[in-house]
Amino acid sequence: MTFEDKSIQCSDCETTFVFSAEEQELFESKGYTNEPKRCPSCRQARKAQRYGNNGYSDRPRRQMFPAVCAQCGKDTEVPFQPREGRPVYCSECYNAVKQNR
Ligand SMILES: [Zn+2]
Ligand SMILES: [Zn+2]
Repeated sequence: MTFEDKSIQCSDCETTFVFSAEEQELFESKGYTNEPKRCPSCRQARKAQRYGNNGYSDRPRRQMFPAVCAQCGKDTEVPFQPREGRPVYCSECYNAVKQNR
């Protein structure tokens, strides 16, 4: 199946945007059957609303992983999956360790 760029009118702001062939392919590969109804910026805005951050940031909250600080033993959270054998620090100790380098 081949895809062609398609012009769609945004249902929110009525801007006409292009639903590109690549995006259509991506959509289909994800199993989406509906075409997007909104332009990319309106989609961003809605996404931001859903995350409850009032649209001040279009970045979704990062997933945090529980960890124990290797320096002070305090429970903390890190934005990455802690790996075995790799020390994890709480934000205070992390800053201290970084400055000592
Ligand atoms: Zn729009
Ligand atoms: Zn610590």
